[in-house]
Amino acid sequence: MFRFHSISDYHKALQNGQTTCVEAVLFYLDAIEQHKHLNAYIEVFADEALARANELDLFRSQEGITTPLHGVIIGLKDVICYKDHAVSAASKILQPFTSIYSATATQQLIDAGAIIIGRQNCDEFAMGSSNENSAYGPVKNARDTGRVPGGSSGGSAVAVQAGLCMISLGSDTGGSVRQPADFCGIVGLKPSYGRVSRYGLIAYASSFDQIGIFANNIPDAAIVLETIAGEDEYDSTVSSVSVPTYTSALTLPPKTYKIAYFEEALNHPALDPTIKKEITNTIELLKADGHCVEPVSFNLLNYLVPTYYVLTTAEASSNLSRFDGVRFGHRTKKEGLDLTDMYKASRSEGFGEEVKRRILLGTFVLSEGFFDAYFTKAQQVRRLLKQQTDDIFAAYDCIISPTVPAPAFKLGEKNNDPIEMFLADIFTVYANLVGIPAISIPLYTHENGMPFGLQLMTAAFDELTLLQLSQILMAKQDERI
Ligand code: GLN
Repeated sequence: MFRFHSISDYHKALQNGQTTCVEAVLFYLDAIEQHKHLNAYIEVFADEALARANELDLFRSQEGITTPLHGVIIGLKDVICYKDHAVSAASKILQPFTSIYSATATQQLIDAGAIIIGRQNCDEFAMGSSNENSAYGPVKNARDTGRVPGGSSGGSAVAVQAGLCMISLGSDTGGSVRQPADFCGIVGLKPSYGRVSRYGLIAYASSFDQIGIFANNIPDAAIVLETIAGEDEYDSTVSSVSVPTYTSALTLPPKTYKIAYFEEALNHPALDPTIKKEITNTIELLKADGHCVEPVSFNLLNYLVPTYYVLTTAEASSNLSRFDGVRFGHRTKKEGLDLTDMYKASRSEGFGEEVKRRILLGTFVLSEGFFDAYFTKAQQVRRLLKQQTDDIFAAYDCIISPTVPAPAFKLGEKNNDPIEMFLADIFTVYANLVGIPAISIPLYTHENGMPFGLQLMTAAFDELTLLQLSQILMAKQDERI
């Protein structure tokens, strides 16, 4: 029977004739069918994926494997555009809408030989931490279906967790790749702001959003990052910093690193004691291996969540103003309305509760009389954070921290308390506020049986160190098993 461990093993099996792309696609289509109750996919492109697998099998029989993602089966979060395919941001307001172009990342995957198998469930417009804000209903954590998978890229995380694709692309504005990766026990990578083009990614908060990668292991994440990173004439915020060969860097001999952790994070009252114990233990193991691991003081920790929610809701209120019932998707059926009332009715019917809350909040912080007190203040905090971050990375290679203060919670548990839900983003929003790359790696299991991860962050555009150190830690974990 088909089994997937890593892209390189899969390629070996294809080359040896032990499997085919068609067999792989059939395996995943069956797995998706068997796991329908998890609600990870909104739509599966079955016929198309099979046709493409056939083409790839034929191509390989003549030319061999010539591209890095040949036959790799990938799912896309429902905020990443794929030409001639529906995309909805898991919102009623974009039903129906068909993408008229592909995101640059989607096109790069296809050019590298990937097979796109479907679009994955998520929180509406990527706003949420539990995947309970989707117009298509909640996604369930495959480890315990009574628990949330995390959000907003919950469907993409569960698809990798439950073996419903090899890789998923998600988006991370404040933790939406790392937090569900933590809750599901897989790798979740958010690249630096500007590392991957945002062209064709439905915007939530444009100065925070990045496309991110879910994988089972670090080498797979590295191959995909290498494929989708780099310049793009369609996104003026994407960086022209050259893209290193992340994959070959992973085989370099291990070296020792200077690693910092925030005292305030490890002593935070909301931090689950088991998470604290395991991370403290990892710090000791790293020291025993010759790495320098030191506490640094970070007095802005409690400002992160408020700053994030002021700035992202402000950007969202502006980004989402385009969904007015005229140009895209849903328009009210009510008749006899003037233009303003038609906008109001279409938006009231189309957007879900959480999206409305954020549009209102964002409009408020941008409004005359409150702008300076909220928006300008938050921008000032962002600037301070950037300065402190530069100082830290002048002395250290990496910062480690918990990804989330507690493991996956029960479905419905935090749904009625938005503030509590927002506070759980405390450790992830930092990387987006300052634009640095961050990853969650699945190192631990809680007494309650749920997995959780360790978060690593490096200086902007130093994904190389991030991946190298992650690889060292993951290998160490394998030794212990
Ligand atoms: N949970 C955060 C929020 O709701 C992060 C979302 C994201 O990264 N897209 O804003």
